[in-house]
Amino acid sequence: MDLGLRGRRALVCAGSKGLGRGCAEALAAEGVDIVLNARGVEALEAAAAEMRDTHGIAVTAVAADITTEGGRTDVLAAAGAVDILVTNAGGPPPGVWSDWGREDFIAALDANMLAPIAMMTALLPGMIGRGWGRVVNITSQSVKAPIAQLGLSNAARTGLTGYVAGTARQVAPHGVTINNLLPGIHATDRADALDAAVVEAEGITLEEARERRRQTIPAWAYGDPADFGRACAFLCSDAAKFIVGQNLLLDGGATNATI
Ligand code: NAP
Repeated sequence: MDLGLRGRRALVCAGSKGLGRGCAEALAAEGVDIVLNARGVEALEAAAAEMRDTHGIAVTAVAADITTEGGRTDVLAAAGAVDILVTNAGGPPPGVWSDWGREDFIAALDANMLAPIAMMTALLPGMIGRGWGRVVNITSQSVKAPIAQLGLSNAARTGLTGYVAGTARQVAPHGVTINNLLPGIHATDRADALDAAVVEAEGITLEEARERRRQTIPAWAYGDPADFGRACAFLCSDAAKFIVGQNLLLDGGATNATI
């Protein structure tokens, strides 16, 4: 299926590894030029070089912290006009409700709610002016069903989801769609870090921690970031123009809900 994206330009935030990388790769495979962001220069430059070689598209790498105003200024200056925005950032640390104070919430809101909103605020006017645009926010299955130890994530991402629900309806008349992808457990560094926290807390092995989580997934395996990326590319396609303000869960059936 040709997604009709060849020649478009996408900004993928937090995209040198994991789910962001999966989205960047899938868009690049469709002929989309990429502006790729992450903080660590080495992994970022390596990812950018690999994508240029594999897909023959242009990749601009911008090393910056997307959760800070200065970082976003650098990314936006390098990005210029983009047709597609994929928002993403690292997830907040796990814990229990009594661990978190105001500063922890401010950090989580900055990273997982206010940073994506700031990027949309900056880039939506250009998309509206050109009459075409796509925004995909990487959020979490915790928006549909809370993950107790990820209270900071539950809170911040639900706030972003509420913002998108209203904003998506305001920009849709201009050919711009905003949707959210909700990952369940995927095989990335983030999943490794969460499994390592269980190893630390419960004194079990990494294999035991992984097996325990794997058994919570009806599809019986951790998700593949490449598959996640293909879902993102479809939401960015012309064929997805009627999909507005939706929350697509990619969790192998782990969230036990009818809708
Ligand atoms: P990951 O494998 O750890 O990759 C994170 C990527 O984001 C890296 O490229 C990292 O590079 C970059 N990054 C992190 N913080 C950044 C920042 N402040 N500014 C710019 N780039 C930044 O994580 P992932 O598994 O892909 O997760 C992506 C998002 O999905 C996270 O918010 C995570 O909580 C959420 N999520 C993941 C899962 C899962 O199972 N994997 C499930 C639900 C939700 P640098 O470190 O070099 O900046």
